[in-house]
Amino acid sequence: MRQLCILLTCLVLLGCPPLPEPSDIILKNVNLIDITTGKIEKKDIFITDGRISQIITKGEGNAYYKAETIINAKGTYALPGFWDNHVHFRGGDSLLADNKNLLKLFLANGITTVRDAGGDLTPEVMHWKEAIANEKLLGPTIFTSGPKLDGPNATWAGSLVVENDNDIAIALDSLQNIPTDYVKLYDSRISAEAYLNTIAAAEKRGMITSGHMPFTVELQDAIDAGIDGVEHLYYIMKGCSNQEAKITQQLQNKEIGFWEAMPALEASYDTTVAAATFTSMKKNKVFSIPTLHIGKVLSYLDEKDHREDDYLKYMGSGIVKTYKGRINRAKNSSPKAIADRKALDAFFGKLAKSMSDAGVWLLAGSDSGAFNSYTYPGISLHQELEAMVAVGITPLKALQNSAYQGAQFLQKDGDYGSLTEGKIADIVLLEANPLEDIQRTRNIAYVIKGKQVLDKQQLKDLLDSAVNPN
Ligand SMILES: [Zn+2]
Repeated sequence: MRQLCILLTCLVLLGCPPLPEPSDIILKNVNLIDITTGKIEKKDIFITDGRISQIITKGEGNAYYKAETIINAKGTYALPGFWDNHVHFRGGDSLLADNKNLLKLFLANGITTVRDAGGDLTPEVMHWKEAIANEKLLGPTIFTSGPKLDGPNATWAGSLVVENDNDIAIALDSLQNIPTDYVKLYDSRISAEAYLNTIAAAEKRGMITSGHMPFTVELQDAIDAGIDGVEHLYYIMKGCSNQEAKITQQLQNKEIGFWEAMPALEASYDTTVAAATFTSMKKNKVFSIPTLHIGKVLSYLDEKDHREDDYLKYMGSGIVKTYKGRINRAKNSSPKAIADRKALDAFFGKLAKSMSDAGVWLLAGSDSGAFNSYTYPGISLHQELEAMVAVGITPLKALQNSAYQGAQFLQKDGDYGSLTEGKIADIVLLEANPLEDIQRTRNIAYVIKGKQVLDKQQLKDLLDSAVNPN
């Protein structure tokens, strides 16, 4: 009797169950690709307040099909919005407008997040990041390293100089004050000691690190210090050589330089050493960012004519001017250096495939931005995915290397990286199945970025609005 009373009281207090709240956006009857398995199922996706509130099979559960925007997504394929895991905003104040214009190119290409790998426009980048988050500016979510860390007289403008422990503490303090999302190390002037000490100090503070690696350091030492990501494949190749110790010594003695070391490292690639390096990378959760597409573009600057490139029209004249540096360097290279570079490019393709097969986490990153000649923001992420597939990586794995693993690397996987209930609704709807043909990532029907929906026409308008007026 007493239990019945309690039950009745509860029912009175609770009243009738309220009608479910309407959603903001519903994607009806979409082919949802599970990014972790590649499994495809027809689903309805409900979005409320910028997040995926519910995913159901039609007729299942008690979903309330009322929303401000209902998209008939039949026949389209839903994936997490793409991540470009290596871009640059840079070139000084005179290129601010040109850099800001790039934001449109990313979003128009379905890229809902970029990882900025360092530059000299940090205050402005932080400003864009906030404006985009508040929907006051159209563009991708930005995660940024802020300025790069390097040695004295660093190659890149705006780099923070680290020579000793005091410099390291000051530099890391300033990054935490901004605050940036991770630490990017560069290798133009930094000493081996300062490099390893910076990684160790950042690790102690719980900061994520990624970088180039001075060739005076051995890869395993960087891994032991706690590096989380290795940009480009030069440094991985070094760690796969059975002559690494000897070649590192020659570099420390200044008997050879960075580019001279390449053919020797490539020739001494050893599958047993490589297997141990890959195992160590996996064990220590070290990500690799192969940047295959830009590698090819830069290796073939001497033969490919880019004057008719479709994307040149979106590049501000200031950015196009910055292309000259690499073009001139290619022009002035010896025939041997040019041939070496092309051989290296082919080698890197095989290396990326071996790493992927071994289960090393790769990230798809374009390295697009000022100074990186003819590697165009937006489209180059698709070209990077295609480059990964061209060397034998499956389309599913290539796609995982974009949003899914990008979110893991930056420890943002609670909010991003897969289409699951509770996560931020950054979604691309493709017109055809990209698992069958990776080039289909370019055929975008819709981009949903949180609360914002862009259909095909709006994406085209966004792209058109990015044409350089000069
Ligand atoms: Zn870069």
